[in-house]
Amino acid sequence: MQAPNRDPTAEDDSQSAARRIQRLSLHLTPAAISPDDHRQISRLECAKAAAKLNVDTKSLSSYMRGKHREIQDKVMDYFNNRPDLQTPVEILKDDHRELCMRQLTGLVREAGIRPFRYIVEDPAKYFAVLEAVGGVDMSLGIKMGVQYSLWGGSVINLGTKKHKDKYFDGIDNLEYPGCFAMTELHHGSNVQGLQTMATFDPITDEFVIDTPNDGAIKWWIGNAAVHGKFATVFAKLMLPTHDERGVSDMGVHAFIVPIRDMKTHQTLPGIEINDCGHKVGLNGVDNGALRFRAVRIPRDNLLNRFGDVSRDGKYTSSLPSINKRFAATLGELVGGRVGLAYSSGSVLKVAGTIAIRYSLLRQQFGPPKQPEVSILDYQSQQHKLMPMLASTYAFHFATLHLVEKYSEMKKTHDEQLVADVHSLSAGLKAYVTSYTAKSLSICREACGGHGYAAVNRFGSLRNDHDIFQTFEGDNTVLLQQVAGDLLKQYKEKFQGGTLTVTWNYLRESMNSYLSQPNPVTARWESEDHLRDPKFQLDAFRYRTSRLLQSVAVRLRKHSKTLGSFGAWNRCLNHLLTLAESHIESVILAKFIEAVQNCPDASSRAALKLVCDLYALDQIWKDIGTYRNVDYVAPNKAKAIHKLTAYLSFRVRNIAGELIDAFDIPDYVTRAPIAMQSDAYSQYTQHVGF
Ligand SMILES: Cc1cc2nc3c(=O)[nH]c(=O)nc-3n(C[C@H](O)[C@H](O)[C@H](O)COP(=O)(O)OP(=O)(O)OC[C@H]3O[C@@H](n4cnc5c(N)ncnc54)[C@H](O)[C@@H]3O)c2cc1C
Repeated sequence: MQAPNRDPTAEDDSQSAARRIQRLSLHLTPAAISPDDHRQISRLECAKAAAKLNVDTKSLSSYMRGKHREIQDKVMDYFNNRPDLQTPVEILKDDHRELCMRQLTGLVREAGIRPFRYIVEDPAKYFAVLEAVGGVDMSLGIKMGVQYSLWGGSVINLGTKKHKDKYFDGIDNLEYPGCFAMTELHHGSNVQGLQTMATFDPITDEFVIDTPNDGAIKWWIGNAAVHGKFATVFAKLMLPTHDERGVSDMGVHAFIVPIRDMKTHQTLPGIEINDCGHKVGLNGVDNGALRFRAVRIPRDNLLNRFGDVSRDGKYTSSLPSINKRFAATLGELVGGRVGLAYSSGSVLKVAGTIAIRYSLLRQQFGPPKQPEVSILDYQSQQHKLMPMLASTYAFHFATLHLVEKYSEMKKTHDEQLVADVHSLSAGLKAYVTSYTAKSLSICREACGGHGYAAVNRFGSLRNDHDIFQTFEGDNTVLLQQVAGDLLKQYKEKFQGGTLTVTWNYLRESMNSYLSQPNPVTARWESEDHLRDPKFQLDAFRYRTSRLLQSVAVRLRKHSKTLGSFGAWNRCLNHLLTLAESHIESVILAKFIEAVQNCPDASSRAALKLVCDLYALDQIWKDIGTYRNVDYVAPNKAKAIHKLTAYLSFRVRNIAGELIDAFDIPDYVTRAPIAMQSDAYSQYTQHVGF
């Protein structure tokens, strides 16, 4: 019977609190919550030997955390305190674009975040801001990237002092919102095929920018449809000659072209701007199409770091050929790729956190007459999510390494480092973004029907992130650059040249590859051996070396009959596998290094477990290759499979701690299904209960 003066909500609250505590403890100590769970888990073959590691989340988190956590907190605090600047689940395209611009302006002018300065002074700080901002709204991250890394980056990296003096402040404080106009309707990946022309007029000392045909309309240009006032336009530089040709094509160069009036914001004469319209995702970014009709700009607007035109129309450059200038120009723009690889890893962290938290809390089925069990106790769910969690950790350390290398490159301009960062950024961007794109669907599925509710974020994460695979270089095209670089290094190795740092391992592993696999080690199957980083790394590198050697032979053979283009195309899938395999080797090497360098013993043990899962899962995925060449004997293949499942299970037991160590603010993982210890209360409130 109810007490007369009882407040009915009080009991509801206390029951709800008890339920929350129970669920929270389930989250924190998944295997220890009830005897029933124990029973369920103990049915798994591996569980018998599985000791749950004690993970000091705080110390793991502080090891993982970049050195710029403070500024990330500042970004989050700003948006937390400004609900009016938070992106709602449902929003129209035009409203989203305006909100996104307000978010960026607020960030710069109110919160005092200065991304452009960080790009110049400390790129790692810029990438940290990008990560935080992407957590607020991925459109905002891309809008910021367009303004500072693309438009701003092109001005400071391709221009000279006069450009920096004139434009830096306006770009920094957003008075000069701008675009990066490279892609054309007919040419995206093939930048050297661009057709927009910039013809020098020696009489007026100007360049005349023209779109010669519809195919040359600049397309997909971020910031162009609504907000941009300037654009860095990539065009063929045409110089008048005194022969029958009339003009000479000096190759693709970059030019600053004002596109809207500074005061009225009207589109300037000769320029036509149209809207690319509603997109699959990233609708906070205003992508537009630009056509130029005899638009005149001063000669000074040529971004002239790698090539210049004098008052009397003479061309000068420190670089001897169009190809070299083109490579130098694109080489300066790798920052965007670094940012995408890094941000994509963060997206994976967010999606994984939501899916894993949900899987820890969600209970379905169980042994007869027993309470239901957490869905993460199903081997299939572990199989979906635990190797993914391991990859997330692996990408974290690999992309952090890329950011460090990039920062070093920007300081030293060391040639070797430039080549290294170019390939590493292409490879990691392609690999990580493709992996994340696939994983987002798996995460959605892992959350069942609730994963499909927009409020739980997978829709926007998936749609916004999807294009990461295409812009800043299509992934398939980028992987070919990596393969091309590997082949170049391979040739040089046999000609006695030096290898750049990233490829250094090839020297050793090519030698081991060229000898036959060792029939004795091919049979070793002890856990110690399989968890030995040396075995794991050797296996990865062996595969890369084998792919490299065999594709080099195939290319040589086919080029005799098909020519080099035809031979390349005949071997294309092989080349892509080679590039991926190489990147996996680099990722594993960085992960192993990170484990070894971790100062705290409990964190090191947790990382080692995760790293082993990453390595063995990858080896298992490609077990056919290893078996084909007897690198791994049948008994060893079986042992790898068993151990991978076992490690998955052990990682599952610390999955709560591992996702907590990402230390992502609740604001970012704000999916109701994952935010609360009681998974449902926010969610039910959301639909009106
Ligand atoms: C939302 C969005 C924002 C963008 N923002 C900008 C911007 O601000 N500025 C800008 O300049 N551009 C921008 N882009 C353009 C973007 O950079 C290009 O879309 C990208 O470079 C790919 O070019 P493409 O679309 O022409 O694809 P394509 O090159 O035509 O590729 C289509 C398909 O063909 C395949 N393919 C192409 N070449 C090869 C090859 N050699 N070997 C094997 N396969 C190949 C690709 O793998 C891909 O699957 C943006 C695009 C989008 C969608």
